[in-house]
Amino acid sequence: MEVYKTLAEIPQDELFTGGHGGCRGCGAALAVRQAMKALGPRTIVTIPASCMATIGGSGLSTAWEIPFYHSLFECAPAVASGIRAALDIQGIIDVNVVSWAGDAGTADIGFQSLTGAAERQENIIHVCYDNETYMNTGGQAGSVTPYQAVTPDTPAGKPTPRKDMLAIMAAHHPAYLATASVAYPLDLIRKFQKARAIQGFRYIHILAPCFRGWGIREDQTVQLARLAVECGLWQLYEEIGGRRRLTVVPERRIPVREYLRLQGRFKNMDEAAVEALQAEADRRFQEVQS
Ligand code: SF4
Repeated sequence: MEVYKTLAEIPQDELFTGGHGGCRGCGAALAVRQAMKALGPRTIVTIPASCMATIGGSGLSTAWEIPFYHSLFECAPAVASGIRAALDIQGIIDVNVVSWAGDAGTADIGFQSLTGAAERQENIIHVCYDNETYMNTGGQAGSVTPYQAVTPDTPAGKPTPRKDMLAIMAAHHPAYLATASVAYPLDLIRKFQKARAIQGFRYIHILAPCFRGWGIREDQTVQLARLAVECGLWQLYEEIGGRRRLTVVPERRIPVREYLRLQGRFKNMDEAAVEALQAEADRRFQEVQS
């Protein structure tokens, strides 16, 4: 299938428009804006409780140019499964059905619904926009919050490592699985183009920094998303039929320290914790290269 080769080829049309309710520099808003360039107007999105549920608008105003449905926190993939079934029974097969959740709606509160939809191989795309905290409810830690990150309920730093959601979702044998980053829009958009062209359960996990939760400036969202890839704590790859392929090899590799030091949430991190995260980055880098 054809994918965009350059940024210049990407459509100018916006299906997630300006005037949304997100903070300036919101990684979640960037992620959905980029993804919609590939998904196109024949798309229905379900969104559980999350920043995205409010960013898109409420009441009579919305930034979405497509139908979206606000589900309960725990069931966006189940609702998406129902929408898919309703379309299929009417013979409508050219509509992308997407459940679009944050890390809480994916890895924690929404996980039972997600694992069910993935195991049934529902013909939907589930997207996790991951800002590594529960930003919709005040920035609490969740299971994908990184080791030692300071949050309102882990003031001394999270004592446990981040849960490996990509490994968990890979174990469901999805038709397509990919990681993405708002700092690499062409890579992100291509992955949505590919996902759109494949039938079956598809899972895309996007690192989408939140300046409030990460303790950075609002103009550092893209910079931090890029540094995460360059230090190896976030890799950009895709898996089709269980075969993994790196899609972006960073031009430079930086120590995790350079990524961590810019973020207020890691202000309490001691040397041993930095080394532990460096070891994790090295291990992930080896894994994804193998
Ligand atoms: S709190 Fe974070 S995720 Fe939520 S709208 Fe603001 S920048 Fe985006």
